[in-house]
Amino acid sequence: MLDALRTEASSCTLCALSQTRTQVVFGNGHPNADLMFVGEAPGFHEDQQGIPFVGQAGKLLDKLLAGIGLTRADVYVANTLMCRPPGNRDPLPDEKQKCEPWLFKQIELIRPKVVATLGNHATKHLTGKETGITRVHGQPQQAVYGPVTVTIFPIYHPAAALYTPAMLKVLEEDFAKIPALLEQEIEPVPSIADLMPEPEPEPVAVQLGLF
Ligand code: URA
Repeated sequence: MLDALRTEASSCTLCALSQTRTQVVFGNGHPNADLMFVGEAPGFHEDQQGIPFVGQAGKLLDKLLAGIGLTRADVYVANTLMCRPPGNRDPLPDEKQKCEPWLFKQIELIRPKVVATLGNHATKHLTGKETGITRVHGQPQQAVYGPVTVTIFPIYHPAAALYTPAMLKVLEEDFAKIPALLEQEIEPVPSIADLMPEPEPEPVAVQLGLF
């Protein structure tokens, strides 16, 4: 299923980035990972190699993973956008919206317990809220994508620590919270139908057509 989705995505032309990309950068990693990361968009190296997080930020991601006893083979890594914005500019709202079904479908197929959103774009997109990463990093919240309930865990983008070394400590502290989140049982978020009161049974007289 994931392979079929990857093949389908490889020829996506839903937005204008299809004209400037070298190739689509689909998610990569363990197809049934409990832990999934969602970054922003491919950069130069990702666009060249077709694999997410292979540049400098990716190397730091690998180190942070090693710090909690995990490797890239244990997790699944994807991006909010599958194609590189020219010059690494910020993703545009239209691009995020067009790319969203590809990302949500990957979440549905992987069925991770925890989706760690790296940086502002992924965090705002997957929480559907405008609250930025500075305020929400390190605070888990639940979200539902189709049939899947996951814990969203916002984290600073590893690139932030490349520019501001003091960020590394904050990233390490947030990463250290991940193992406990993976252990947690997720309570399914109740559907609207579950929250509605049971309808009162009709009085017998009504059922007999007496009123
Ligand atoms: N930054 C991202 O957000 N994603 C990548 O794949 C690489 C760098």
